[in-house]
Amino acid sequence: MKHVLFIATGGTLACRQSENGLIPALTGEDLLTFLPGISTLCTVAIENLFSIDSTDVTTAHRTQMAELIFKEYANYDGFIISHGTDTLSHTAALLYHMLRNIDKPVLLTGAQKPIGVPNSDAERNLLDTFRVIASGYHGVAAVVHGRIIRGNHLVKVDCEDMDPFRSINAPLEGTIDLDGTVHLYPKASVSGTFKLVPVKDTSIFVLKLIPGLNPDIFSMLSAYSHVIIEGYGSGGIPVYLENGLKTLIEQGTQVYITTECLSGSVDLTKYAVGCRAASLGAISLGSHTIADTVASILCGTLTDET
Ligand code: ASP
Repeated sequence: MKHVLFIATGGTLACRQSENGLIPALTGEDLLTFLPGISTLCTVAIENLFSIDSTDVTTAHRTQMAELIFKEYANYDGFIISHGTDTLSHTAALLYHMLRNIDKPVLLTGAQKPIGVPNSDAERNLLDTFRVIASGYHGVAAVVHGRIIRGNHLVKVDCEDMDPFRSINAPLEGTIDLDGTVHLYPKASVSGTFKLVPVKDTSIFVLKLIPGLNPDIFSMLSAYSHVIIEGYGSGGIPVYLENGLKTLIEQGTQVYITTECLSGSVDLTKYAVGCRAASLGAISLGSHTIADTVASILCGTLTDET
């Protein structure tokens, strides 16, 4: 039987109603009382790392999660993190980039409704993570609504629906049926030694293009080492912003272009607006999501690998 470290961090699934809205209140021990069948799947140790809304989860909190898993790696067959859904994609992406060559499962899950309330998705999502551990999966992934999504491809697309996440620009790693049957899709085995990649560079800004954006914004961005511009379609910069972009790049800021489209890739060779941006030194992010890009910049590992 697999031995699992269950790391509780808060989020809706651990919430109870307060005078000021939902607030995380349940411990890891409380959460597991809702899963009486768990002892037939795994043995579990619990770490109550923190109990916060994921809006408040910082890079330092995420680093704490990665360091805990790295420290306890030899002692467990897998790791489960219960987490708020709002920033789950950022935590999953950063853990994906920090925990390299991982041959054990690190599974994140959350829910749209607190555990124990009518029609909550929390029990299923939480139980499914244990099922996926028992199935022999390895890697960093989110398990939500029957989908297993690789950590660096996760995007939350709905803030109410019980099926809020999609795997963007990558196939699912597997699925879980309503009866709990896990289907894992073929995946390469790990080569290389497991290692913890530290966070190196936090000087990142994301700028969203909107029609009529004031070009003065570029003069404020040179304080950042990395600026990600979320543009339109296949990517490009409007002609009236080119001078600002040029100056920013000349001042030493790395500028990357991504797209507001949920899937498909940026291609700065397709249109003249893209070619001009590339000739000024802007770098295409291809099919990387923003969460994946931010995480890989933080770790200094941004490559074309998806
Ligand atoms: N605001 C909550 C959080 O991210 C939402 C959720 O968990 O679904 O912690």
